[in-house]
Amino acid sequence: MELFFGTGNEGKLRELRRLVAGLPVTVVTPEALGAPLPEVLEDGATFRENAEKKARAFALASGRLALADDSGLRVDALGGAPGVVSARWSEPEAPGALDRLERDQRNNQKLLAELAGVPKERRGAEYVAVLSLAGPDGRILASVEGRCRGRILKAPRGGGGFGYDPLFVAEGRALTMAELPPEEKDALSHRGAAFRALRPVLARLAALDEPEGNR
Ligand code: IMP
Repeated sequence: MELFFGTGNEGKLRELRRLVAGLPVTVVTPEALGAPLPEVLEDGATFRENAEKKARAFALASGRLALADDSGLRVDALGGAPGVVSARWSEPEAPGALDRLERDQRNNQKLLAELAGVPKERRGAEYVAVLSLAGPDGRILASVEGRCRGRILKAPRGGGGFGYDPLFVAEGRALTMAELPPEEKDALSHRGAAFRALRPVLARLAALDEPEGNR
């Protein structure tokens, strides 16, 4: 079964490819279709609103079953910021002006600056991810949420993962998300948790998609 994953974020795409392993699902990317990803204004107040809006737009644009991820970091001491604006936190006026790596670095610098002087015991945070699945007609078939609690370090560590990973240590761990082996990030992460909730839905849809003779 083909699944269109609408994202321009290489980090999310790498993780999704690992997470679908073992399912009879082929991930189709915007590059593979040779069509630009439709611009979706992520103006929802919640991760779920944005994920559903993206999934619907990607399904209609690709004519396929489509998956969208909307995710971010909520920091306790910042009242839940950056939240739904996690990707564009440090460049609110000119979204898209910077490349992703530079944007991630600026976001991390901003996070360290906002938390300057905040002691370890008040640096709690959580990652949140909502995965929404839409049918080729744009109808939302499922939306699932995953969370991962942790804390924000005072300096970045590690070269793996993406986004805020070099500053985020999950509860009960010593290594940052950017230092952990990828499979361990998947086992702990918000995206991994959300995907585990979505897995049975995809398995059911893939079984229905099989030609009758193969069932
Ligand atoms: P979105 O593309 O609007 O969903 O933005 C997601 C943003 O949240 C990313 O660009 C990162 O800044 C942050 N984020 C979401 N998931 C992760 C993760 O697994 N690790 C690090 N940062 C993440």
